[in-house]
Amino acid sequence: PVRVRIAPSPTGDPHVGTAYIGLLNYVFAKQRGGKFVLRIEDTDRTRFVASSEQMIFDALRWVGLQWDEGPDVGGPHGPYRQSERTDIYREYCQILIDNGSAYRAFETAEELEAERKAQMAAKQAPKYAGASRNYTAEQAAALMAEGKPYTIRLRVPDGDKGPGVASTTFRDELRGDITFDHNNVDDQVLLKSDGFPTYHLANVVDDHLMEITDVIRAEEWISSTPKHVLLYRAFGWDLPRFWHMPLLRNTDKSKISKRKNPVSLIYYRQAGFLPQAMLNFLGLMGGGMAQPTEQEIVNKGLDMKLADVFSLPEMLERFDFQRISLGGPVFDLVKLKWMNGEYLRKQTPDEFFAALRQTIFSDEYLRAIAPLVQTRIETLGQFGDMTGFFFSDDVMPPQDVFVPKKRTVEDTLAFATDMLATLEASDWVAESIDAGLRELLTAKEWSVKEAYMLLRAILTGKTASPPLLESLVVFGKARSLDRVRRFLD
Ligand code: ATP
Ligand code: GLU
Repeated sequence: PVRVRIAPSPTGDPHVGTAYIGLLNYVFAKQRGGKFVLRIEDTDRTRFVASSEQMIFDALRWVGLQWDEGPDVGGPHGPYRQSERTDIYREYCQILIDNGSAYRAFETAEELEAERKAQMAAKQAPKYAGASRNYTAEQAAALMAEGKPYTIRLRVPDGDKGPGVASTTFRDELRGDITFDHNNVDDQVLLKSDGFPTYHLANVVDDHLMEITDVIRAEEWISSTPKHVLLYRAFGWDLPRFWHMPLLRNTDKSKISKRKNPVSLIYYRQAGFLPQAMLNFLGLMGGGMAQPTEQEIVNKGLDMKLADVFSLPEMLERFDFQRISLGGPVFDLVKLKWMNGEYLRKQTPDEFFAALRQTIFSDEYLRAIAPLVQTRIETLGQFGDMTGFFFSDDVMPPQDVFVPKKRTVEDTLAFATDMLATLEASDWVAESIDAGLRELLTAKEWSVKEAYMLLRAILTGKTASPPLLESLVVFGKARSLDRVRRFLD
């Protein structure tokens, strides 16, 4: 039976890439009567964001993807959160040490950094080349006895040891055979000195134990796959099939990234995109939807637009993984908006009203906005005048509003660029935003007034508004960042 998974890392807002890959996995499983698993890959403690996991669950359910097994729904192969499986990874790592496929590496972070710098200076690709690789069991044991910290690394066969070990070849279901020369594959760390596994070890051990038959993930993981294949072989396990999906691109063909586009699903939800439209749009991205033949159009009385506008059940019927084109699907916001408009137009008046009440006119949102203006208006009618920016998609301040008197346009844009990074790194509560901004403005020698006036102009388009920090918090991080980003565009 087919079993697939998505394995997001809870490092921040849920990414549109996660929904895209999630959709493809879901469709693959449901077309084949298989299971769709959600696994949380939370072993990188430096990038861990506590609120992220719940946001991932909510965002995936919002677009309408439900998993059969996962941390919150259970299943026969749990736990489905990697931080709860660390004993398993240690146990499996020991197997690799015992059979010689992995070794303990005692180099310190400083030593590794010096090695990396030397390699960069010599124009070589950075690659582990420490002495630990060739330690005897006795040497390693002696260092362990001294209590020297170590990581565990995969022993990638040397590239020059003759046929069979110079390279690793695996089959990608969309691309055919892919070969990596071992000279270009690093001796990957499998277990860190804190006892946590790296992505590579945990991912392979879990895919095996969770009986994953098909690994369907984004193209950016192709270069990790030879390491994974070496791990499967070192354990003596069968390989899953690998399908690497083309990355979502900006219109300029660069990889979509939060510098240029909103990539957070929270943004799309809060900005009033409909989940069905989002899902439909993501379904178009792989190019895998079979277009209706003329025969079908006649026989089934199909609307020609079916080629573009389709529901999840239609996608299950017509999506063909062999049709996927590797060209790099463009995540074009103009097209997504068009599609969302199509969905809005198809709604009944009641559905449309309900959608408004669920999103930008929800009780929750209005309740959060109301106290910000209660003491600032004289008639209820003025509510709209004061709060319009909370309900609009974009506001653009005129230049005399956003450029402080003593600054140039260039200065101001440079400051706004730094501000975007600062806001991005902030926890979305008033104190944290304020602390970040104050640190920035001190460093850049801007006054509090200048900085706050600029941010107020970007958020509201005006010189006067309800309290700025509270307004930012209510408006939400994803949409606030988008407003700054659009201002900089
Ligand atoms: P950014 O470049 O915006 O910082 P990222 O690659 O750091 O993005 P992650 O949070 O690491 O984002 O990615 C979340 C998930 O989305 C991962 O599974 C990743 O493979 C996938 N992903 C990221 N970018 C894309 C993309 N352009 N197309 C498809 N999937 C993507
Ligand atoms: N944790 C990885 C991610 O963030 C999983 C990649 C994979 O599917 O192997 O996407």
